[in-house]
Amino acid sequence: MLALGQDEIAKYPFLADAGQYLKDQGFSLEQFGSDPDLKQLIEKAYERIRVAADGKIYKSDLDGDHVSNSAALPREVFSFLLAIVLLKLSGMHTLIKRFSLAEARRAEKYLEKDLANISDESKNQLAIRVIDDLFSVQVEKLDNYFVIPVSNYLKHSINFHEREWKLINRHVEDGKVYLSPHETVRLIRKELGTYINSKIINARTPAMIPGFEDSVNKLVSLSKKFVTYTVTTGEYPPCVKHAIEILEKGENLPHSGRFMLATFLLSKGQPVQQIAPLFKNAPDYNERVTLYQLNHLAGTSGSGTHYSCPSCEKLKTQNLCYATSECDNIINPLQFGRKKNNARR
Ligand code: SF4
Repeated sequence: MLALGQDEIAKYPFLADAGQYLKDQGFSLEQFGSDPDLKQLIEKAYERIRVAADGKIYKSDLDGDHVSNSAALPREVFSFLLAIVLLKLSGMHTLIKRFSLAEARRAEKYLEKDLANISDESKNQLAIRVIDDLFSVQVEKLDNYFVIPVSNYLKHSINFHEREWKLINRHVEDGKVYLSPHETVRLIRKELGTYINSKIINARTPAMIPGFEDSVNKLVSLSKKFVTYTVTTGEYPPCVKHAIEILEKGENLPHSGRFMLATFLLSKGQPVQQIAPLFKNAPDYNERVTLYQLNHLAGTSGSGTHYSCPSCEKLKTQNLCYATSECDNIINPLQFGRKKNNARR
């Protein structure tokens, strides 16, 4: 386990040993439910989850890179730990997923800042250690770049479809790939989210604690908002399923993938309002722009042109095809399942 300073625990609370931290601070979970002063922290933890569920990054009490005052550190760490307790008590996996993703994005910002910190070498070193310890990526600093072995790079960039991530488009020297702080952290985004998610999933679920019930009930109601995203009738083709998975993980789906997904769902008769939330986890999500673009594709704004879902051939050239035997030589994803259904008649 990494030795962490107080600023680091606040920035990366998922690295702390939760039980040990509570013990060291001299608190039990029951006290948070009964002590009126501590109870505010349950509300703060709920808020942290609510913000995450909304696809936003929780605004912390950190002032720049430092804990703004001595009371802020425990608040910061407790709200994270209590959020995990609330999530476990609610059992809402959709919220756990969303929370992990938002916390990963929050940590990502700090990791990037720490890597780019030119005035404090220890910050660089800590970020490098976190990346190595958690994800086995050996990062070395070389002038203003961070270099990693090609094998590490290939393993972690495998799901990136944008041209810029192809090895051929990277600066490679002596078997090492040169990356900026942003790219270094971007490379482990998915793993960071998965790491936090599995830490929560594997955490012990306590019995209901008096004083926690209201917030847990509010979480159960909150989660109902999200279950309708991917509910549709019929099976999706693999390319569409893959695009949805990428978005759910908060990965960046290339423009061509978004176009395919949106035109497919529109053609299946899904309304714009129901499709828009699917894009909520995208790193560059903007509700107004998403609605505008979906309406444009649906032909309900702009020129009135209705855009169709691209053919399988086109999607293959865009690296968006994940054909299985079920695709059965169809020429457009919209035909998926039709052959099978026709055969049954
Ligand atoms: S063959 Fe067509 S439907 Fe099947 S995964 Fe590829 S693009 Fe999608």
